[in-house]
This record gives sequence, C-alpha cells and structure tokens, in this order.
Amino acid sequence: MNEPAVILHKGKDKAVRNRHHWIFSGAVRSLPEFENGGILPVRSADGEFLGRAYVNRDCSILGRMLSFDDRPPLEVLEENIERAIAMRTSFFDASTTACRLINGEGDGVPGLIADRYGDILVIQVSTLGMDRLKPFVLNVLAKATRPRSIYERSSLPSRRGEGLPMFEGLLAGDPVGTVEVLENGLRFRVDVIQSQKTGLYLDQRENRRLVRWLAAGRRVLNAFSYTGGFSVFALAGGAASADSVDISERAIGLARENCALNGFTGENARFHVADVFDFIRNHPLDYDLVILDPPAFAKKKSEVVPACRGYKDIHRIVFQKVPRPCLVLTFSCSFFVDETLFRQVLFQAASEAARNVRILQRHHQAYDHPVNIFHPETDYLKGFLLYVD
Ligand code: SAH
Repeated sequence: MNEPAVILHKGKDKAVRNRHHWIFSGAVRSLPEFENGGILPVRSADGEFLGRAYVNRDCSILGRMLSFDDRPPLEVLEENIERAIAMRTSFFDASTTACRLINGEGDGVPGLIADRYGDILVIQVSTLGMDRLKPFVLNVLAKATRPRSIYERSSLPSRRGEGLPMFEGLLAGDPVGTVEVLENGLRFRVDVIQSQKTGLYLDQRENRRLVRWLAAGRRVLNAFSYTGGFSVFALAGGAASADSVDISERAIGLARENCALNGFTGENARFHVADVFDFIRNHPLDYDLVILDPPAFAKKKSEVVPACRGYKDIHRIVFQKVPRPCLVLTFSCSFFVDETLFRQVLFQAASEAARNVRILQRHHQAYDHPVNIFHPETDYLKGFLLYVD
C-alpha cells in the first residue's frame, strides 16, 4: 500500500477499470518521484489499487497499463506475449510465413509491434516505457519464436514526444536484408530494412485473399499498390489484367518483382509510378475491379476534414469513370475516419457522380491485428466492397 503510486482524479478511473490501457495526463491527480519510463502502481482517488502501468511524465498519454490486477507486471507481459503468439500459431500454416505476432494494445502489450517475416522478427517500439522493457521482451520473443534475427524498425514520429530517438538496427542474430515470404501460398520479397511499415501491409492479408476470388476474368486496377500484394492475388485468381499504381518507384520495382516471382511476367501485368490522383484523372479507367488502398489521409484528428475531401475526390472520379458495372474495393486506414464517416464520404461521392452504388461487403484488418474490445483505438482499417452501376 505504501509503494509510491500514480493517483487518478476522482471520476477519472473509469477507462482503466474498463481495462483500457491508456492513462491520459488529465486523469492524473498526483505522481510520485520516479525514474521516467518506469513501472508504477495505479490507484483511484480513494486509494483503490487498479493495476500497474509504465509511465512517461512528459506525454499526454502519460501511462500505459501493463496489468489490471496485483500480479507482477512482467509476468503478465510475458503471458500476453506468449498468448498472442499462440493465437497466431493456431491460425497460420506453412502457406503463410509473414504475420503480426504482437499487435500492441490489441494484444495487451502496449507500445510493441512484432512482425514475423520467415525466420526474421521485426519489432517496433513506440514508447519510452516499452523501450526500457526491451531486453526483457526480446528475451521472451526469442524464447517463443527462435528467430534467426531480430531487427528493430522504430522510426516513428511519435517517439519524439516520448523523448526517444529514431532507431533502426539489428538487435540479434545474422544481418538481414531482403527475405522471401509466403502469403497464402504466393511469394513475396520483403525488404526488411528499407520498406514501409515493417515490410508488408500484413493487415490486408484477408482482403488480398478475397481479391483472388473476385478477380477472375476481370481487368483490375490496384491503386496505391505498394509492392503489388493485391495485384499478385488478382493475377493468381485469373484476372484479365492488373495495373499497379504507386507513387514510390521502389515499391513499384518490388511489385514487378513480386509478380514475376509468381510467374506473372506477361503484358497483362502493368506497373505505373504515378500519383493516383493524376492517374485516375488522366486514364480512361476501363476496369472491372478497382482497389483503392490509400495511406492514412488523416493521421491526426485535425486532418479529418481535408482527408475526407481527398477520399471523396478519389471516389467521385472513380465512380464517374468506371464502366457499368464495376466492383470497387475501397479502404480507409485512418483511425479518425471511422466506418460511419467513411460511408458518408462514399455516399457524397456516389451522389455527386450520380451513380448507383451498393455495399456488398464490409472488411476489416486481418485477424493477426486483433482489436482489443476494451481498447477501441486498435480498430483502424475499414473497407467496403461496392457494386457500382
Ligand atoms: N495495398 C498495399 C498497401 C498500400 S499502402 C498492400 O496490400 O500491400 C499505401 C501506398 O500508397 C504506399 O505504397 C504509398 O507509397 C502509396 N501512396 C501514397 N500516396 C500516394 C499517391 N498520391 N499516389 C500513389 N501512391 C501513393
């Protein structure tokens, strides 16, 4: 009871009682003397023990709960990591060798992402508290997965607020570079060091598999293609053609390689280094399936209005120009643009384009990116399969 603790304001303990991981600075009545980034007990205004959090006094998300009972927090952390890995092991067979093993708060492991690419682990640490726990966490990860190498990709702007430098580098094992992985039996080259995210957009795995079934005989546009994931699945599903469009030359280079790796070297696999906004304005859009998977247009709440304008513009142009009928598989990965708002944007675009648009399916992030029911911020990817005629 006498252990120095974070004391919350009266009435500000509800989120933590509901197992939300974050403690905002405004909820905190008092902090003891402590070394920044360390683990402290958390108590309500009445002194009731609520669990333990690692704490950074300089951040608006001041604390992240590691445990919600009186068990040793590192024991809970280890168990959450092991359980997260066990869940993936139960889902994936040898036909998929790239997946997210630890999805931060989604798996009860705040501040840590760990992705597996074959026998390489790539981790991403976003907070000071997790950075201090890194030796412990690496040990648990190494024991549970026995990787050949562990590489860190922690160049996250949010680390600045945590007082952490950007960091990228090998943490353990052999030097890494590119590695080949399988996703549902298809082959992909992943550049672990010089890629976006940790290598692949693993969160779209199920939606790429869906495209394999949707694409048969269709002319496919894969806009914001990155390294060609949707294109490879479309061609594997018998697409008549697949056009990959991305602004990154490097990504398009890898998209071409990934198509070739799977035997798609024909003229029906086409690649365009271009801004999608220009591409859709300047091309006729004779496609039967259009995939739109842009980056997060709204990275902060204040960017929601311009983001929605961007989403609306793209959809209006696509709706106007595609033949009747056309399937459009569209996504938003901006947390701040929720499903309802995204749908309103699609409504506006359909209305301005004067096209009939029907929602056939709704889609979300893959199941190795679980949403913690107590922590809704882990729910970010939403998509619709639309029938435009
Ligand atoms: N669908 C992909 C992931 C897309 S990530 C997959 O399954 O792997 C978003 C991509 O959009 C990135 O590759 C980024 O380079 C690209 N991008 C961002 N802005 C763009 C723009 N204005 N025009 C074209 N591509 C863009």
